[in-house]
Amino acid sequence: MPDTAQLQPLAPAGSCRGSCNLRAARALAAHRQALEEHADAVDRWYAAGGSEQEFPPEPEAPRVRFWPGNPLFCGRCVANARRTLLDLDVLASQLAATADGHRGRAADAGEGRVSGTKTRPSVSPVTDVLDRLVGDLFDVEDEWRSLRGYPGRPSNGGRGAHPRSRTIGWLAERLEDILAHEDMAGLPRQLSNWDRVLRHLAKDDRASTNSPVRCACGERNVGWDDELHYYRCRSCGTLLNQDEHDHQVHEQADAAEARAGQGRATYQPV
Ligand SMILES: [Zn+2]
Ligand SMILES: [Zn+2]
Repeated sequence: MPDTAQLQPLAPAGSCRGSCNLRAARALAAHRQALEEHADAVDRWYAAGGSEQEFPPEPEAPRVRFWPGNPLFCGRCVANARRTLLDLDVLASQLAATADGHRGRAADAGEGRVSGTKTRPSVSPVTDVLDRLVGDLFDVEDEWRSLRGYPGRPSNGGRGAHPRSRTIGWLAERLEDILAHEDMAGLPRQLSNWDRVLRHLAKDDRASTNSPVRCACGERNVGWDDELHYYRCRSCGTLLNQDEHDHQVHEQADAAEARAGQGRATYQPV
C-alpha cells in the first residue's frame, strides 16, 4: 500500500506530511483510480453505440479532510514524533538490560570453558540492532548540525546508552525546527520504523491490545494503528496521538474514580 510520501502529490498544498493524512490521501487515490476506470467505461459505452445500456454512473467523490501542516507537519504529528523519539531511549535501555541479563546467565553457567581457550565474543542481535539505532540517530544529528552550520557532534567514540540519550535529548529539544525543514521530512517515518523494530524485539505488541479510552463518538473502540502510528477509533476514525491518548486514559480514570466516590457518598447512612 502506498505511504504518505508517495501519496503526498494528491494532498492539497500545505497539508501535513504526517500519517494523520494517510487515510484521506488513500481515499483520494482510490477516487482517482475509479475516475480512470469510469473514463474507460464511458469509452466502451460510446463504442457500443451509447444508447443500449445506461450511461456508466460517475464515481462519487470522497468527503475527505486534510489537516494542515505548520509548516510541514501538524502539531499532533510533531508531538507524536517527539514522543516516539523519547520512547526509543526507554525501549533501548530496557532491551539492553534484557540482553545483558542473558549474557550474564550464560557466563554464570560457565559453558565448560577451559582456561586459556579463546572464546569468540558473541554479539547478540539486540546489541547489533541498538548499535544500528545509535548510528542512525547520530546521522540525523550530524545532518541537522551540517544543515544549520553548527559545530560537530561532541563524541568520545562511544555508542552506548549515554551518547544515545544525549543525541535523543538534543534532537527532541530541536524537533519542531528540524521537522520544519524539507530535507528532514522523512524523520517521523524513520522514528516510527525504529519504534516498530524495538517493540518487536521486546515482544511488545500494542496493536493487539484494546485501549480503555472512550472516543468522543461514544464508542469504546480505540486501538493502536501500527501503520499510522496513532491510536484510532475504529468506529469513527478519530485519531489520538500517544500523548492525547494517555491524557484521556488518565482523565477517564479520574472521572470514574470521582463517580465511584460519589456513589459511596450516596449510600452512606444519614
Ligand atoms: Zn499531521
Ligand atoms: Zn470514535
